[in-house]
Amino acid sequence: MDTAFFVDWITRVAASVEANKVRLTELDAAIGDGDHGTNLDRGFASVIRVLDTAAPRTPGTVLSLTGTTLISKVGGAAGPLYGSAFRRAGNALSDAPDVDLAGLSGALDAALAAIRKLGAARDGDKTMVDALAPAVAALSDAAASDTPLLKALDATVAAAESGALATIPMQASKGRASYLGPRSIGHQDPGAASTVLILRALRDTARAAAASGDE
Ligand code: ADP
Ligand code: MG
Repeated sequence: MDTAFFVDWITRVAASVEANKVRLTELDAAIGDGDHGTNLDRGFASVIRVLDTAAPRTPGTVLSLTGTTLISKVGGAAGPLYGSAFRRAGNALSDAPDVDLAGLSGALDAALAAIRKLGAARDGDKTMVDALAPAVAALSDAAASDTPLLKALDATVAAAESGALATIPMQASKGRASYLGPRSIGHQDPGAASTVLILRALRDTARAAAASGDE
């Protein structure tokens, strides 16, 4: 996975966030303040402009620039959380020109660690961690057993999707949704839903690359 692959991933994330903006905002309106979709959409639109002008030369720089831009452009909880996640993932890739499955797994592991450190959310607190943690575990298992990339990313997405659905019956203990107490039960966490979009975009990038014979 080279620099163009990572630019394609972030471009697909931006398109997916835009297409799902209303849904993300509705999820956030139910248990938060209804800004998650618009916040992320504005943030990723800025990221695309930054990537266009900066023309990053390594996968790590693509992710670091993404993170820095999200931190500066997205308010609320999700901007700093996703921003530091992308930055730490970028740092984990260092200046490698090409990333293999083990490298990708290490980067997503670093992203999860960044979110856990900044947000202090544990598993079951009804946050993006509940989608990302099982996804990172699935990716790490796949990398350890030398699973082909597409199969590994299918497992990653499936784990994120079930993790996000599992937030529905949870009561929130972190973020704005926690103010609702038991009334947060019965709604999917918006951050878990956007994490699924980010990981689906990654899987779709790998599929497109495989179809064009790049990877
Ligand atoms: P805000 O709540 O400030 O309006 P957003 O609506 O953009 O921010 O993002 C809300 C999402 O952020 C939640 O759905 C949840 O997934 C995530 N989140 C909030 N607080 C935390 C935290 N402490 N740790 C991890 N994720 C969190
Ligand atoms: Mg919100």
